[in-house]
Amino acid sequence: MNDFEGLRALVTGGASGIGRATAGLLAERGAQVAVLDLDPSSVDKPLLALVADVSDDASVRTAVAQAAETLGGLDILVNNAGIGAQGTVEDNDDAEWRCVFDVNVLGMVRTARAALPHLRRSRHAAIVNTCSIAATAGLPQRALYSATKGAVYSLTLAMAADHVHEGIRVNCVNPGTADTPWVGRLLDAAPDPAAERTALEARQPTGRLVSSAEVAGAIAYLASPLSGATTGTALAVDGGMQGL
Ligand code: NAD
Repeated sequence: MNDFEGLRALVTGGASGIGRATAGLLAERGAQVAVLDLDPSSVDKPLLALVADVSDDASVRTAVAQAAETLGGLDILVNNAGIGAQGTVEDNDDAEWRCVFDVNVLGMVRTARAALPHLRRSRHAAIVNTCSIAATAGLPQRALYSATKGAVYSLTLAMAADHVHEGIRVNCVNPGTADTPWVGRLLDAAPDPAAERTALEARQPTGRLVSSAEVAGAIAYLASPLSGATTGTALAVDGGMQGL
């Protein structure tokens, strides 16, 4: 099924994990895809690899312009680049709060701002933001990260309202713990990574972590014309973590 034939997509943070799976799936389903990442060296052809830092406005504007020029426009923006942070409010100082907000929230704002003029010219414009169950779950030891994802959730709703009359849909996905290189790094930092993984899996209602491919599938649905009447929603991809 080539649901994305003729559509042009930009995926931020598309060189690893959820972004990589999403870029691959959209391309496999017929989209022309550009990947924006700090290090897109692992991105395979025919995807367009663009080096950019979402915390740097000039770098984002240059990369988005390059994507639109090379692909001949933009229909889909997947705002996925993000970084983690652990601890309570006492553990992260102001500089860390600013840094993580700069990437996780302002990064999405910058990319959207640069992409909107191109999306307005599309007949199937969609933005999908990678949020997290952390936005609403009240997770321990994740104050800063959760606050950024809460902001992404609110941003998604506000942008959906602002741009619905322009034919631009804005939704987000809320993954649970997904088996990506990021989570792999967190597990590797534990004293006993295998035991930590087993404990993490045991906390999931399904007994396993969510896969990047499963999150990519949800993002692809929200990006595709199949979800043409859906805007301002959050789609949970959490193995029932919040619903059960
Ligand atoms: P990952 O670390 O495997 O991949 C993230 C990618 O983003 C990397 O390629 C990295 O280079 C890129 N990136 C980071 N900072 C960047 C910047 N400033 N500019 C450009 N690119 C940048 O992570 P992942 O697990 O695939 O996470 C992707 C998204 O999913 C993030 O927004 C994260 O918050 C969200 N998420 C992840 C999980 C999970 O359990 N893995 C759960 C919920 C939400």
